[in-house]
Parts: sequence; C-alpha cells; structure tokens
Amino acid sequence: MSVLAKTDEHNAAEVWLVGREGAVGSAAALGIRTSTLSHFVQIGGSALRIGVQDLNRAMSEIPSLRAVLHGYLHSTLVQSSQSAACSLRHSLLQRLARWLLTAQDRSDMDALPITQDLLARSLGVRRPTVSEAFRVLEHRGIFGRERGLIRILDRGSLEQIACHCYRAMCLRRDRRERAEMRRRLLFTLSALCALFEIELFAQ
Ligand SMILES: [Zn+2]
Repeated sequence: MSVLAKTDEHNAAEVWLVGREGAVGSAAALGIRTSTLSHFVQIGGSALRIGVQDLNRAMSEIPSLRAVLHGYLHSTLVQSSQSAACSLRHSLLQRLARWLLTAQDRSDMDALPITQDLLARSLGVRRPTVSEAFRVLEHRGIFGRERGLIRILDRGSLEQIACHCYRAMCLRRDRRERAEMRRRLLFTLSALCALFEIELFAQ
C-alpha cells in the first residue's frame, strides 16, 4: 500500500510503502484521529483491522504493543525522510531499483503485479520516463515480464543499482535483534488475541 501526500488538489506523491511489516493509520497510537495522508492499494491482500477504542484499550493493557507501535511510527519517520532525500539526490534508475526491492520485501512475492503507470505515479515521474528506466533493467536481465507480472530475476544486481536509501530504509537488524523483535511481536500478538478472545492460527 502506498502512503500518499497531496501535492495539489488533484495529485499526490508516494512518501512510503506499507507491506506485511507495517500498519496504516498507526498515528492513532499517538491519539491522532485525522490525517492529511491518503492510501492506495498497490497489491491486494488481507489485513487485520482494529478500532481506535479497542486499540486504546489494548495499549493500556499490553505495554509491549505500545512499544511495537512506537517503533513502527519511528520507522515511518525514517522512511519518509529518506524518501524526500532520495527524490532530491538519486537517479530514477536508482529509485526504481529501490522501489522494486522494497515492494518485493514487503509483499513476499516473487512476481509483482504492478504496471508502469502505477510505478510512474509512485515515483512521481511521467510514464515514458519510467519506461526508459524499465528498458535498461530489462536489457540487463534483471527482471522479466510475464502476463502482467514483473518477475525479479537478478536481485543481487538490483541491490547494486539501488541507492543507499534502500539499505537505510530496511532498518536492518542483526540476528539477535531479529530474534528479540520476533519474540516481542509474537508475545504481543498472543496478548492481543487473548484480550479480544480471538483464536490464533500459526502460519
Ligand atoms: Zn535514494
């Protein structure tokens, strides 16, 4: 899902991407009920939803939920700041590579159901400009197209082309930090399910 900031009455620009790692409307965790940002679903899927009242109740009863949400809000601040710097300093090819890598990370899909129109809108450029960058990546064998899908074939090369912003936005953690994060998330999810009497199915 793209999070969009309005640039005029009819247009908006993407400021960050949300996938399985994140949440939309997470500013509610700070008590903020309205937003000037809007959202656009790039790739369909399923999500969990919680009302603001229930969220407030859960945050007061599960301290780790507050910590998880605040951590995520901090990461959206980093992403939107990095995204602004990226638009000013880096080439379209670098930004396109970053976008494709991020979209793959956050959707867990090998082949992405995205169009060039959609990419042009996300990157804030005209469609012919994005087509040219596409041709460069395709010519190098970095991705292939099949029935409306873009399949990344050479992720290593894509990572080399992408600007530093990709790694900065990943907020990469070492193994111990990842294990701790996973433990905390599972604990928080279990506590949420217990609070609202929801059965938890492991995947
Ligand atoms: Zn960049």
